[in-house]
Amino acid sequence: MPWLAAAYSFVMKAQKNQDGLTNLPTRQLLSRRRALAARLGGAEQVLTGTLTEQVRRCGKAGCRCAEGEPHGPYAFFVPKTAARGRLRYVPASLAGVVRRYLRNGEEIERLLAEISAINAELLARRELS
Ligand SMILES: [Zn+2]
Repeated sequence: MPWLAAAYSFVMKAQKNQDGLTNLPTRQLLSRRRALAARLGGAEQVLTGTLTEQVRRCGKAGCRCAEGEPHGPYAFFVPKTAARGRLRYVPASLAGVVRRYLRNGEEIERLLAEISAINAELLARRELS
């Protein structure tokens, strides 16, 4: 199916142009990489995952939840790594902190993805060292 290969190649080119790295001179890639890495400083306060809300049933006979009016909603942190994807209860007093950590996590993942894209471009130029 040659049209498929052509379409794939087209998509790859479009993707490559989208990040615009191929058009930048190497020295600009290096300074951009340095600037991105400098923003990784606050890497301690990081959570990767999501915040979710769930309702619960306590199981006690005669409780309102047995009648279909569940407890909650309660907030839970869901770690990104599926293997250890156990929900962690988030008390209301910590919800703001957890949100901040999640935002930091997203930011750092974005920065790492950009740095990796730059390094992939440097590799394509045989200028990765
Ligand atoms: Zn209940």
